[in-house]
Amino acid sequence: MSKFFVESLQSLEAYTPGFQPKNSDIIKLNTNENPFPPSPEIEGILVDVSKTLHLYNDPTCQTLKEVFAKNYDISEDQVIFSNGSDEILAFAFQAFCDKNTQICFPEISYGFYEVFAELYRIPYEKIHLKDDLSIKVSDYFSKNKTILIANPNAPTGICLGLSDLELILNTNQEHVVIIDEAYIDFGGESAICLINKFDNLLVTGTFSKSRNLAGARLGYAVGNKDLIADLNRIKFSFNPYNVNAMTQAIGVASLENDAYFKECCNTVIESREYLLKELDKLGFTTLDSKANFVFTKHPFFHGKELLDGLLEKNILVRHFSKDKISDFVRITIGTRKNMEILVEILKELVEKKHA
Ligand SMILES: *Cc1c(COP(=O)(O)O)cnc(C)c1O
Repeated sequence: MSKFFVESLQSLEAYTPGFQPKNSDIIKLNTNENPFPPSPEIEGILVDVSKTLHLYNDPTCQTLKEVFAKNYDISEDQVIFSNGSDEILAFAFQAFCDKNTQICFPEISYGFYEVFAELYRIPYEKIHLKDDLSIKVSDYFSKNKTILIANPNAPTGICLGLSDLELILNTNQEHVVIIDEAYIDFGGESAICLINKFDNLLVTGTFSKSRNLAGARLGYAVGNKDLIADLNRIKFSFNPYNVNAMTQAIGVASLENDAYFKECCNTVIESREYLLKELDKLGFTTLDSKANFVFTKHPFFHGKELLDGLLEKNILVRHFSKDKISDFVRITIGTRKNMEILVEILKELVEKKHA
């Protein structure tokens, strides 16, 4: 740290992204990426866009908005795009939270929430999970704060239903309720259908996971048009060109090839169900996941031991050292083949331990 770094941020702990190994022999199951490449037409689209890169990109993302609005049955003024959904979450923190309007989120959730609260100096409350690591819905009634919930939650994978979200929305009508749907396409029910019913609902999402585009950086928020106008006000006060031309074009292509998107999601869901069954046979306890990862533990192992045992065999998963979840590892769903290799290696580890 330099002597110039402001005092008010000296305790800021930055988010630690999952490790991105250079070694391609590694089976990478640590950052919830999609195991399948982006849809094939994207290559040609990139060549076309490259010819226009001397010009500024469209700061309003008009074409993207039109296609998205049609796909999701909303109007164009109900959506805004961003450089990954982390950025739209940052905008939401700036627009809907401050000293007077504090924020709350589950104690165990996406690590970035706490980082943003610290960065923007917003007082925050971390709400405990139940012993089974699920969210206790009534804990979020009448909070008198902005509420932020990842649904499905990360790293548990557990998903709340829309009726529970409606209860939270109804009892917090004077505050924004942000539902982070980064993983919703893997089996959960999106709250986008509720935006006309609740003017305090903001749904965020990303093309990183279910649309195979983590490296392109495209996120969005959907909600009442006034909420979206607020977010645009922040965006145009910070970086109007936040979604580059290549990413806008790729996003349109992804939305126009919904068949590929759905096929990839279904394949991931099938592999998840396969993995769940196999983990169960090996004595693992796995939380009920509606995401493209599972959160699992085994009575013979500490989570770190599993992480290290798998790493020795070139399989990378994620472990969190927080007390309540340190027994677990989070495993991203990869291809069926990679899930089969994983199961074989886990079997060896369990048998070796038992012997
Ligand atoms: C991955 C993730 C995001 C952000 O993804 P981007 O790549 O920034 O779009 C947001 N929320 C949760 C819960 C995530 O897991």
